Amino acid sequence: MQRVFNRLKKVTHKADLPWEVHLIDNHQWNAFTIGGGKVFVYTGLFKGKLAVRSDDELAAILAHEIAHVNARHASEKQGKLMLSKLLDKKLRSAAYEASFTTNQEDEADKYSVIYSALAGYKPSAGAEIWARMHKQLGSDSKDRLHDHPLNADKAKSLTRYAKLAEQYYHSGKINKNYKTLLTNNAVFFHQGESTLKAGEGGGFLALFETLGNAYVEAEKAKQEQRKRGL
Ligand SMILES: [Zn+2]
Repeated sequence: MQRVFNRLKKVTHKADLPWEVHLIDNHQWNAFTIGGGKVFVYTGLFKGKLAVRSDDELAAILAHEIAHVNARHASEKQGKLMLSKLLDKKLRSAAYEASFTTNQEDEADKYSVIYSALAGYKPSAGAEIWARMHKQLGSDSKDRLHDHPLNADKAKSLTRYAKLAEQYYHSGKINKNYKTLLTNNAVFFHQGESTLKAGEGGGFLALFETLGNAYVEAEKAKQEQRKRGL
């Protein structure tokens, strides 16, 4: 896990953060972040039918959490709340991810495929995880926290993003152009590091919503047209 994390943290938007990954002995299939570069993974992620099966899949999970950190989805306030929850035995099962919105989840998924691809991990691995999740658990909204996209939807959108990121992926190798590609790639666009830093969920996110969504909408429209044979 440390090895995979170390390669991912080199190709992220905020390489200067004090990145740390910690393993928590807990049966749940989950990973979370408290922001500020701290990512936590439950041992449950490696057990049972849904266990992550490869470095590529683990990278998908870690990259997703790294993305939440970089997009500042996890605020310091939330982070402190989570830490206090973790310290409280009764609340230890609380799923922190529940506090992210569907939009933030989707944004983290977009980033995750780019981070995976740039670090030399298969960008489609995330889609494989969620396809398996759908196969095992279905996509009943009762199975998942209400603000999470359903497993099948997540698998579908991740497949779409992974196809766009595939061109940057060289198995086992960090993409030499990762710095440029972080700010300009086929999955999302934004105006460089300064925009990312400026946005306390504001500037960057707003810009992302506009440009990123416009792109995704255009892709969706194209797919619709293809489906209808236009
Ligand atoms: Zn998430």
